[in-house]
Amino acid sequence: MSNRVVQGRMVTPGTLAELIEGSPVLETEDITDADRPCPECDGDVIEVGYMPSVTEFVTGYKCQDCDWSDDDRE
Ligand SMILES: [Zn+2]
Repeated sequence: MSNRVVQGRMVTPGTLAELIEGSPVLETEDITDADRPCPECDGDVIEVGYMPSVTEFVTGYKCQDCDWSDDDRE
């Protein structure tokens, strides 16, 4: 497990992926540090790979300090 604190709240890879995706996901990888700052507040960004469906794998990004999140979908 690689739990992290996001906006003052402890998250697991599963709850982080759900925050980014907006709905529960099937599978997640461990949370890692993204090597880029948040475009909104310059805070630390973490990333997690997850499967929102059986045919899709995306990498999601979330700022640890504000509401900003993104994923690598085109
Ligand atoms: Zn931010």
